[in-house]
Amino acid sequence: MRQAVELKGRPASDGIFAGPVFFLEDAAAKRREAGDAEAETEAFDAAVAAAIAGLTVLVVTAEGDGADMLSFQIALLDDDALLQPARALIAQGRPADEAWRKTVDAEILGYEMSDDDYFRARAADLKDMRDRVLRHLAGNAAHLAQAGAILIGDDVPPSLFLEADWSKGGAIALRQGSPSSHVAILARARGVPMVVGLGDIRPNDHAEAVVDGSTGLLVLSPDGPAKQFWLEKAQGLAERREQEQRFLDRPAQLKSDERIELLINVAEPQELDVLDPSHCDGIGLMRSEFLFRDGKPLPDEETQYRAYRRLLEWAGEKPVTIRTLDIGGDKPIAGLTPEGERNPFLGLRGIRLTLARRDVFKTQLRALARAAVHGKLKVMVPMITVNAELQATAQLLDEVVAELAQAGIPALRPPLGIMVEVPAVALAPELFSEAAFFSIGSNDLVQYVMAAARDETSVASLSDPAHPAVLRLIAHVARYGAEHGIPVSLCGDMASDPRFVPALIAQGLKTLSVSPATIGRVKAALAEI
Ligand code: PEP
Ligand code: MG
Repeated sequence: MRQAVELKGRPASDGIFAGPVFFLEDAAAKRREAGDAEAETEAFDAAVAAAIAGLTVLVVTAEGDGADMLSFQIALLDDDALLQPARALIAQGRPADEAWRKTVDAEILGYEMSDDDYFRARAADLKDMRDRVLRHLAGNAAHLAQAGAILIGDDVPPSLFLEADWSKGGAIALRQGSPSSHVAILARARGVPMVVGLGDIRPNDHAEAVVDGSTGLLVLSPDGPAKQFWLEKAQGLAERREQEQRFLDRPAQLKSDERIELLINVAEPQELDVLDPSHCDGIGLMRSEFLFRDGKPLPDEETQYRAYRRLLEWAGEKPVTIRTLDIGGDKPIAGLTPEGERNPFLGLRGIRLTLARRDVFKTQLRALARAAVHGKLKVMVPMITVNAELQATAQLLDEVVAELAQAGIPALRPPLGIMVEVPAVALAPELFSEAAFFSIGSNDLVQYVMAAARDETSVASLSDPAHPAVLRLIAHVARYGAEHGIPVSLCGDMASDPRFVPALIAQGLKTLSVSPATIGRVKAALAEI
């Protein structure tokens, strides 16, 4: 039997899970042994499409030779003569990556042997193009893991989490990563235990492990007594959770009976299937970007409209706040977000990106305006830094509503509010007096105030939502809102953590938006205040 190995990292999502381990880096290699021609063809086509989409974005910002080089790659990827041999190999049962490598390597050899300097120089472009497609092919290995496995890797993007099957439980253990990253937020929302910052973990034939998300432990190859210990601890945790569930039916209120508005954060409409709307006062944040999957076609207006409508119908009379696309940062989408940004969290993210991609933005705003007739919709804009961004969004929304009216399509103009997550906004909220509401995004506010990237393990200890600088900004925004009649809520993850709830109420907040899994826990914490 393997010797047990205990590794200590950082807690990222509560809960204990024991099960088989699945090393994500091996998965990319294993995946290619799958050999199902139909699935491989589909994966190949999707990878080529994603590579073209990514190159198309790059071409827009590249200049001179750079742009030529990228256009050359797009032309090749569009050329059936190049793709055909790879497709033929796949049809014969070869894995997509092997087929692609073989096909392009033969081309590369031809270029390298050429007498012509021009063609020899182009061999490097072919290699670059080959690797782009290979990266997309290797991208989402998570769906290959059996349900109920512990996924182990360096760091994982949110798209990988969304592809994995969590129906039988499971857990995540990362060498790097951070508790504030978006994948950690998703894991907490879904109740998937997660540990980050574990450092070097090698496969070394470990077949099973235990993850304790509350203490940040990963135990590889646990022995019998250890397994028993974790089982008992998991039972204790389950009992605690059951006690919290008793608060679900109660109103969210303080000891004094003062009512607090308690909303929920939603990533995917399917999450609502298991939630009872009577347990909360509405939806405070729908992260619409999770309808957009890296490597997949962008959802069209109809698909988005149906998703938004589903949320509104679930909520009935209660308010639903849907946030416009917040991609970029740690949520890249090939073809939409620029590749190679030196600091994506300070780059073209959220409203900065959607205003640069008006086609994509307009589609979303049309879907939202159409959905608005089905309930109490509010639209929220992420990463607002200056008022001009809010004004541009308002103008675009007005245009879209007018277009829909002209076409006779039922639509309404929802109120437009902003996320307060950039310090410039939290310090000077008076510049945004036209916003219909403010929602404080403490996850980003903390990273920008503390100058500590939310996906960076090495600075995770600086990400302290209870730092006086952060609390002071929250109090400032809450006070400004109360004095000027602008509703203020907080939808960052600190609202879902009972340790921070008293401080948030003390800063003057009366509305919190939390992860659905924590409704009972937060209500219990409020009742103690
Ligand atoms: C936040 O920044 O607090 C927030 C709610 O948005 P996200 O975590 O999606 O960036
Ligand atoms: Mg944010």
